[in-house]
Amino acid sequence: MNKVLFKQLFLEKFETMHGQTIEEASPMDLYMTLGAMIRDFMSRKWIHTNQTYVNQGKKQVYYFSMEFLLGKMMERNLLYLDWKKIVLEAFEELSIDLEMILSLEPDAGLGNGGLGRLAACFLDSLASLQLPGHGCGIRYKYGFFDQKIVDGYQVELPDPWLKHGNVWEIRKADKAVEVRFGGVVRLDQHDNKTIFIHENYDTVLAVPYDSPIVGFQNNTVNTLRLWSAETTMRDFDFSTFNRGDYLNAVKYKHEVESISQILYPDDQHQEGRILRLKQQYFLVSASLQSIIHRYKRKGGSLHEFSNKIAIHINDTHPVLAIPELMRILIDEEDMGWDQAWQLTTQTISYTNHTILPEALEKWPIDLFQSLLPRIYMIVHEINERFCHGLWQRYLNNWEKIGQMAILADGYVHMAHLAVVGSHSVNGVAEIHSEILKKQVMAHFYEVFPYKFNNKTNGITPRRWLIKSNPSLSQLITDTIGSAWLHDSSELIQLMNHEEDSYFKQQIFTIKHNNKLTLSRIIEDKTGIKVDPNSIFDVQIKRIHAYKRQMLNLLHIMDLYNQLRENPDLDILPRTFIFAGKSAPSYYQAKQTIKLIHTLADLINKDSSIKDKLKVVFLENYNVSLAEKIFPAAEVSEQISTASKEASGTGNMKFMMNGAITLGTLDGANIEIKDAVGEENIVIFGLTAHEVLAYYRNGGYSAWDMFHQDSRIKTILTQLINGFLPAAQDEFRSLYDALLYQNDEYFVLKDFSSYVDAHRRINQLYGNPQQWLRMSVCNIAHSGRFSSDRTISEYASGIWQIDPVYVGE
Ligand SMILES: *Cc1c(COP(=O)(O)O)cnc(C)c1O
Repeated sequence: MNKVLFKQLFLEKFETMHGQTIEEASPMDLYMTLGAMIRDFMSRKWIHTNQTYVNQGKKQVYYFSMEFLLGKMMERNLLYLDWKKIVLEAFEELSIDLEMILSLEPDAGLGNGGLGRLAACFLDSLASLQLPGHGCGIRYKYGFFDQKIVDGYQVELPDPWLKHGNVWEIRKADKAVEVRFGGVVRLDQHDNKTIFIHENYDTVLAVPYDSPIVGFQNNTVNTLRLWSAETTMRDFDFSTFNRGDYLNAVKYKHEVESISQILYPDDQHQEGRILRLKQQYFLVSASLQSIIHRYKRKGGSLHEFSNKIAIHINDTHPVLAIPELMRILIDEEDMGWDQAWQLTTQTISYTNHTILPEALEKWPIDLFQSLLPRIYMIVHEINERFCHGLWQRYLNNWEKIGQMAILADGYVHMAHLAVVGSHSVNGVAEIHSEILKKQVMAHFYEVFPYKFNNKTNGITPRRWLIKSNPSLSQLITDTIGSAWLHDSSELIQLMNHEEDSYFKQQIFTIKHNNKLTLSRIIEDKTGIKVDPNSIFDVQIKRIHAYKRQMLNLLHIMDLYNQLRENPDLDILPRTFIFAGKSAPSYYQAKQTIKLIHTLADLINKDSSIKDKLKVVFLENYNVSLAEKIFPAAEVSEQISTASKEASGTGNMKFMMNGAITLGTLDGANIEIKDAVGEENIVIFGLTAHEVLAYYRNGGYSAWDMFHQDSRIKTILTQLINGFLPAAQDEFRSLYDALLYQNDEYFVLKDFSSYVDAHRRINQLYGNPQQWLRMSVCNIAHSGRFSSDRTISEYASGIWQIDPVYVGE
């Protein structure tokens, strides 16, 4: 491609698509035209990639996930195809503002947070490493809700991201499959074998929409297949309803389509609604049917299935892939149980994402059985055989067997099914994998030690550095060459420039410019003027008690109290930046958002503190907003209660953009500390061992903290005594959680240590040469947190897949 050719093709494409000349174009028409051109170009590579995969017959992996938090795709695709510069120049000649066109694309927000974004980074790395790997998910009509702040409170609005269509997807109606719910299972005999006949079920049509996932400046184009629920023509034939029963027919259609209507907005919390279970089965049944159809069509033998196909389940949400694969092999392919079981367990691998008990999925047996009668029978049989083995091993230790059973106390325990029915179980950071082995899944580790392993999460440096922070990327290339663009471990070369004051001056200037840009965004969105010379101290992530936005807020209140007492207090000016969504039904998290706004109101307009403190909340945190904040951040708040954050990935995005982590020894923070060394990170608070010991043995009293530390007493009292400009008792629930519910997340216990950590940040920042050296050190060591490293480990350690070279 070159500029002249691009211009010509663009004008032609515009006219054929819109039947008018470019002079009359609306920005949306221009966006659609560019999108269609990029898609056409990728299509050729896409077809070629699939042909290469078929011809070479190498093993492929399918990543099953209920969430893919992709963000925008157009600029990404331009960069990956190496078209960005050409389009920019061509558009300049056509007087089209590319930035404006790019901003028209809605975020594909089909995920809640870290788990969904991880799936998106993994697709990016698979294609960029030329690995044959594809995503399978749900095409939610409404993605993660849009957050509006009204009077300091979160309000949720639907996210109609498909309103103007989606240029990237291709509907594949001919590849639709049927998914069955409800009904009964009748047993019959055939050739001396028991067969299972599923009858009187409801049928839902699963229609795939495929999007191309192009690799970074290579020829690989993998597939993200998202399923949409529709009624079958047969079912929606009005004659099958009582004649004239129009209303019921419409209601039925609506009910079926509801399966792919919305993404459940709960993070780290299991949603017990039956529609969620329907979504989960819909995803795995449709995906498995299509994988097996295709596999057989290309002549594959099912006995070789697990040598040719790997299936990975992102958390337990798609765990029904295990009994569904068993069902297909046994009921439809006439395979015996033992062989089906061998193939299934060798095909499927599982990632655990959390140890929070409220997030562990379990479904009431009666509900599960009536929705999925045949799947239930298979789960029951898996459980019988597993427990039988346990019984032989542990004799009559019923307590232990009960703790491991898949069916127990009236529930189907999804994580137990995942461990038993897969060949690999991984945690997402070293400490998390250790806690799984030693505590949460210790019994399972005893039975299946060979299944357990660690795969520390990562992020794609292409979106989170190359795309979002182009000036830093250019400086890196100017300094160490361009090898790092394809191999992020090369970033370590920056360590040779740690003491190079010219280089550090440029690092400073880039960060300062990024801060100026963010300051303008903040003023546009909130009206708040922040000082670009202040420290940008950032906590952006889902709002959740375990992530402890409250700890951050208590510290801000303490700083404010000190400044009111002594406006000349020797601290550097700070801007505290927050963003994040609360689950709509999570009252405490919503009140935390209200508290951030209440403090912002109070502090930002108090001139007595001489602008030393500003508090900002940016609404509607999503991938695109994240891309604007990370490049401007200086302090990365990673302050979860130790043991609670399985890995975190936000921590890695900050580090890669030169921010210093202020964090607990939790999740991947520990590995960040190992990478950069103690002097290049600020650590505080209880360790995971200490936290877990308190949970086991008791001995923590929040009231002791209240009585022993006058700062805590003052601040907590301010939450409820009218000091804050809010309704009376507005923050009573937050106060009660910290005191009367004995501070489940050790906010008060870690307060003093957190205050000290902030003093340390203040000191370090006061020495710019030292701060910049730390910043460079963090960027230099961020290569190991690339999702390319993570995906290479999955590919060789779990999936056993190799790169497939796709030619021009
Ligand atoms: C990275 C990311 C997350 C995860 O952040 P954590 O700090 O690891 O919880 C959530 N949401 C978005 C939009 C992200 O980009």
